[in-house]
Amino acid sequence: MQAITHPLSVAHANAAYTLTSFHFGTPGSGKKVYIQGSLHADEVPGMLVAQFLRKELLALEAAGQIHGEIILVPAANPIGLAQAIHGAAFGRFDLTTGVNFNRAYKHVANDLKRSLEGKLGPDAAANVALIREHARASIADWQPATDAETLKKTLMTLAIDAEIVLDLHCDNEAVLHIYAGTPLAEAIAPLSAILGSHATLLAYEAGGEPFDEACSRLWWDLDRHFEHRFPIPAACLSTTVELRGEMEVSYELARKDAAGLLQFLALNGVLGDANAQAAAATLPEPLCAPTPLEGVEPVYAPHAGILIYTRELGAKVAAGEALADLIDPVSGETTVLRATVDGVFFARSAHRHVIRGMNVGKVAGAKAYREGDLLSA
Ligand SMILES: [Zn+2]
Repeated sequence: MQAITHPLSVAHANAAYTLTSFHFGTPGSGKKVYIQGSLHADEVPGMLVAQFLRKELLALEAAGQIHGEIILVPAANPIGLAQAIHGAAFGRFDLTTGVNFNRAYKHVANDLKRSLEGKLGPDAAANVALIREHARASIADWQPATDAETLKKTLMTLAIDAEIVLDLHCDNEAVLHIYAGTPLAEAIAPLSAILGSHATLLAYEAGGEPFDEACSRLWWDLDRHFEHRFPIPAACLSTTVELRGEMEVSYELARKDAAGLLQFLALNGVLGDANAQAAAATLPEPLCAPTPLEGVEPVYAPHAGILIYTRELGAKVAAGEALADLIDPVSGETTVLRATVDGVFFARSAHRHVIRGMNVGKVAGAKAYREGDLLSA
């Protein structure tokens, strides 16, 4: 294992940040895997899962069981980890600019559409290698203007040419769910089953350029741009894993999640033949079928009030069913908040008094009906 410290700040900084990555295995000896925790710095479960991963990966490396390269970034957002407002952690947005730490990553396909013109051929493997080389160059060209942008560039430099990218987040209060690109549906299915995902949400483009998509969407974007004239597979299995709610930080869950992630890596041949066979033999049945991200209904508070949930997370609800009551604390009037689609009630707010317009729940419906920016702000 090699630890690398990446500087994020430039000269004259009054607070200088660094990012640390841990590198296991041998580059070029198999697949490249990239795993990061807590890019949204107030989403802590991923950082605890990374503790178990580091320990297990050290043991696997010592036993010669890592076939390829695994990069682990246990705390992906040192800038956000240092942010707090009046005692409350604030890790979703960069306080300096207001930009979400998981948005505005460079979509390298925009450069590659030009730089690859006339260079692709009939050999898929050669195309994959060439696209990775150009993607690395495009990230290297990125000129960050803030520490947060340098952080984003650093994370993408580590991940852009990986075969597997696992970005570990969590929601306010939620059951485990997963986001990935639609072309990755088949590849992501075992992860969804192993982790016990209650909603696996797929989109060709979620909007806002989140990290996982910056690593994966270039492949199908380029395939479409070059009109399928050259074989361009979806060569990066990149996903955002939402490890339940922000208060669900426990040894039991983290140990289980880390074991699940390692089972998925084993299935993908990164941890040797024996581990691959064991992983395949213990693959559980999935809890859900994947559904379109365009089918997720965000439920908003129509007015301010006290929020009382009347359904449990993970419940399968029908359109018209009640999810919560919203009570005007002064008049006592109650508004019943209902789902408008059939689906799984998979995420909800951590607040119990909300202001008009706040998102108070998400229901994963099977039918696509939304468009535009599909993620929460
Ligand atoms: Zn997040």
